[in-house]
Amino acid sequence: MKTRDHKPKKVGLVTLGCSKNTVDSEVIMGQLKNGNVEAEHENVDGADTIIINTCGFIDNAKQESIDTILHYAEEKKVGNIESLIVTGCLSQRYKDDLSPEIPEVDKWYGTFELPQLLDKVGVDYKKELVGERQSSVAKHYAYTKISEGCDRPCSFCAIPLMRGKHVSKPIEDLVQEAKNLVRDGVKELMLIAQDSTFYGIDIYGERKLAELLDRLSDVEGLEWIRLHYAYPSKFPFDILPIMNSKPNICKYLDIPIQHISDNVLKSMRRGITKRRTEEVLDRIKSEVNNIALRTTLLVGHPGEYEQDFEELKDFVTRYEFNRLGVFTYSHEEGTHAYTLEDHVPQEIKQERADDIMDIQHHISLAKNLQLVNTTQKVLIDRIEGDNYIGRTQFDSPEVDNEVIIGIDHGYLRVGDFVNTKILEAEPFDLIAVPV
Ligand code: SF4
Repeated sequence: MKTRDHKPKKVGLVTLGCSKNTVDSEVIMGQLKNGNVEAEHENVDGADTIIINTCGFIDNAKQESIDTILHYAEEKKVGNIESLIVTGCLSQRYKDDLSPEIPEVDKWYGTFELPQLLDKVGVDYKKELVGERQSSVAKHYAYTKISEGCDRPCSFCAIPLMRGKHVSKPIEDLVQEAKNLVRDGVKELMLIAQDSTFYGIDIYGERKLAELLDRLSDVEGLEWIRLHYAYPSKFPFDILPIMNSKPNICKYLDIPIQHISDNVLKSMRRGITKRRTEEVLDRIKSEVNNIALRTTLLVGHPGEYEQDFEELKDFVTRYEFNRLGVFTYSHEEGTHAYTLEDHVPQEIKQERADDIMDIQHHISLAKNLQLVNTTQKVLIDRIEGDNYIGRTQFDSPEVDNEVIIGIDHGYLRVGDFVNTKILEAEPFDLIAVPV
């Protein structure tokens, strides 16, 4: 029996979670637009149908998704909206448990059910629209998901449960997607995946990240290409000469290492040792001049004892990452780590995360002070009060440092690059003037 409903007057799309979810929402928007359905991202005013693209990664994210669903369930109860649809990782993982609990939700879709979701709102899924999507973050930068899913066995991670096995997108499709985005005004492209360094193994039988970077760097109008989510084990060093030789590939690499103690790396099933991790990082730093390294750490994992944490603090102090984020371990059912004892109390987990960020606070300030009196090319992202806010090539949107330029220094356009002189440094921001 066909489940197709009538076309909504307007769809409001609410996206939670990571940049990969942002891309999925942009794809939904592109399909709806092509299907002549009015749709807006985040602005749900006047929408009779709400689609929530949820996150199911860790406790806090799951709670935020459930709270958002309950909010719109209430909106539906009082008649402010007609239809409520839920998709994304939380739905993929828990729809059977949640649907009886929240009957106001008309339909729950998993992460691989886009055609069914579109059919629900009266739109036919169009494969030929691959690469066509409606940017939701900014006009001048966008994220591109180079693959879906992950084959890695990291013990703490529920993502493979929600996103399945690693599937790379063909180079041709990604190049076309980049050209479409540049046509629509994009100058900076963030390459994202669960594990970007695994790119190509499934469809080409070998790692093809270097070739992909090379091909994308030839896309006219693409001024910055930024690589995220590199995995340290079996790192494809052939991307380094490409990063060095191509001026439009940012001297920036996001490489989550999660931990450094051999004991914890083993418990996390990361497939790499402390020594090998340091060798990989040292080689990247020595082969790409002036590269900014971002990493992500996880504290409080089962098996992390005080001496392991001391080792991690020592490593962070010694390695001086340019950018660093830290998460506290979340005991996720269905993951391998869920079979281990979650022995680190939550307040200790938080204390450890705070300790790491204290160290990083000083490192980041010291590195920013080295940029004072230098000239930096800055991409203007937005205007905030009396300031233009932008970023250098060493900073990714939403997660890294920003450059603050007073609007009294003359007219600048959002989306433009401007050469600046760095006047002052703060732990996570720079103060600059146009030159
Ligand atoms: S690489 Fe590990 S942490 Fe990252 S998505 Fe895959 S399983 Fe999860």
